[in-house]
Amino acid sequence: MKTETSIQGLSASLAPARSARKTIGFVPTMGNLHEGHMQLVREARRICDVVVVSVFVNPIQFGPNEDFASYPRTLEQDSHLLAENGCDILFSPSVEQMYGKQPRLTNIAVNLLTEGLCGAQRPGHFDGVAVVVTKLFNMVQPTYAFFGQKDYQQLAVIQQLVQDLNIPVEVRGVPIVRAEDGLALSSRNGYLTPEQRQIAPKIYASLLAAQQQLKQSESLTIVLEKLRKSLTDAGFVIDYAEARSPQLQTVTAFDQDIVLFVAAKLGNTRLIDNLQIRYTD
Ligand code: AMP
Repeated sequence: MKTETSIQGLSASLAPARSARKTIGFVPTMGNLHEGHMQLVREARRICDVVVVSVFVNPIQFGPNEDFASYPRTLEQDSHLLAENGCDILFSPSVEQMYGKQPRLTNIAVNLLTEGLCGAQRPGHFDGVAVVVTKLFNMVQPTYAFFGQKDYQQLAVIQQLVQDLNIPVEVRGVPIVRAEDGLALSSRNGYLTPEQRQIAPKIYASLLAAQQQLKQSESLTIVLEKLRKSLTDAGFVIDYAEARSPQLQTVTAFDQDIVLFVAAKLGNTRLIDNLQIRYTD
């Protein structure tokens, strides 16, 4: 595995693959890698000739009171994991390499899809994601890019961005990887105290209970009320617990496929999860 920290180095490393018309698979991450990220890398390895993974903690997608400064940075450990899992090129640019010294005057706002859920709670977050992902796509020029369904709204935003701006990449979503107790793997799980870590799997347990209730024909409104109550009773402070269509439109009844979304805090740690529920199963 090669490690590149500059855009020129990355281009030079990718040049032979490009001239041989090899397929390039790209996995953008913020590092502190775990099995969830590795699932994306393995999927890229499975279908692409060359696998590129970026590790970049993107300052412009963090709000002023969020955890940019304390976000876990574990590049050496990440590098070992990536080499073991078939990554060919690790791209880990500095903030200066990514954004340069001149002020950035261009923004990318993907409307509508970013209005609710995490977009409402984290103003500017998805603009920051759209900008960095577009920059990374231009640097790597991948054939395929892999994103986790854990960040379902982010995946929808990227798919829309690629479609609207004709970015020549095929975006693939990868299912959520969970710990044995059901907690969706996340770099932020490391912030949890042992007590909070015991409570955290209740998000997924509550989502599964909600699914069960919907399958037993309880109304969506009541199921969402119960979901919120079970999270609050477990000790979470809820940012949102909502149902949407797979395309993120609002829904009022379980009369089609839906996705349940939760963002909830334990102490200062904000956890997100979602569950896709098919109407016909
Ligand atoms: P992050 O480093 O948190 O920005 O995540 C990088 C990519 O890994 C994103 O596409 C995430 O959706 C994906 N990812 C993070 N955690 C998981 C997980 N538990 N299962 C599947 N994908 C994940």
